Amino acid sequence: MRIVVLAGGIGGARFLRGLKRAAPDADVTVIGNTGDDIHLFGLKVCPDLDTVMYTLGGGINEEQGWGRTDETFQVKAELAAYGVGPEWFGLGDRDFATHIVRTQMLGAGYPLSAVTEALCARWKPGVRLLPMSDDRIETHVAVDLDGERKAVHFQEYWVRMRASVPAQAVVPVGADQAKPAPGVLEAVAAADVILFPPSNPVVSIGTILAVPGIREAIAEAGVPVVGLSPIVGNAPVRGMADKVLAAIGVEATAAAVALHYGSGLLDGWLVDTVDAGAVADIEGAGIRSRAVPLLMTDVDAAAAMAREALTMAEEVRA
Ligand code: GDP
Ligand code: CA
Repeated sequence: MRIVVLAGGIGGARFLRGLKRAAPDADVTVIGNTGDDIHLFGLKVCPDLDTVMYTLGGGINEEQGWGRTDETFQVKAELAAYGVGPEWFGLGDRDFATHIVRTQMLGAGYPLSAVTEALCARWKPGVRLLPMSDDRIETHVAVDLDGERKAVHFQEYWVRMRASVPAQAVVPVGADQAKPAPGVLEAVAAADVILFPPSNPVVSIGTILAVPGIREAIAEAGVPVVGLSPIVGNAPVRGMADKVLAAIGVEATAAAVALHYGSGLLDGWLVDTVDAGAVADIEGAGIRSRAVPLLMTDVDAAAAMAREALTMAEEVRA
């Protein structure tokens, strides 16, 4: 079975680890979000691709959900001693190596998709990890600061500001001119099932869908598309997805996110058991829905979620 998964960072990566356990023989292609990418200290950092790669490759810091295990921060401290920031973005010593290799290869002319494949040769994530695009796309967030509208890089909004002010708009800068990376549309066209893990609907999956051609390819693939809600009990399980949902006028509820994707894209949507009351509304919108436990407390729990998603895919296919 060929499964295509659109993934952000932590939510996507943890789900994928469960999916691999639930369907060990499946051929899984991951289309990763690159809207979070940022240049720091002259290096190209791809946080979501790396979170997927480290999580599936056994190198992730488990508690944190991002960054390397057994990490140290000597380089960061040395940079700070020179007065060179930003200090708000945590790049560890082990992690730096990944960004150095990536930047070196990009500088030599390799596209991001080829660089990602090369990095994965070390980590062996057990999935084919593709960036959504080889073109530069950077998510910016419009905020009102001191009575003035300002656009800040998504990482500055998320990490430095901790989403403490309302997001007025979220813009994947460069997306409209971008092309899907090689293999992306082919994987979608060849998929038996397409899954939206519990990733951020705006700045992870929304950004991937903003690359011209990807949304259309998914809608036209003619195979089941099933998603899992990142919103449980009217709040994100982790992080501040409610802030960016508000910016696009979508309530932070499992049902509102399903309706935001819509029946033109989604065939099925799993909600958590605490949101069982939302099932009828979602089904009323033409999307099959069911309430099941959606907390990825460990890999077994994530695997059970993946099994539920695959079961629902077979139901909507029938
Ligand atoms: P990011 O790039 O690291 O922010 O990760 P993603 O976009 O892949 O996922 C972020 C989303 O995952 C957040 O909106 C969380 O609410 C959601 N999430 C994290 N852990 C869980 C979980 O255990 N269950 C569910 N249902 N959602 C989760
Ligand atoms: Ca992310």
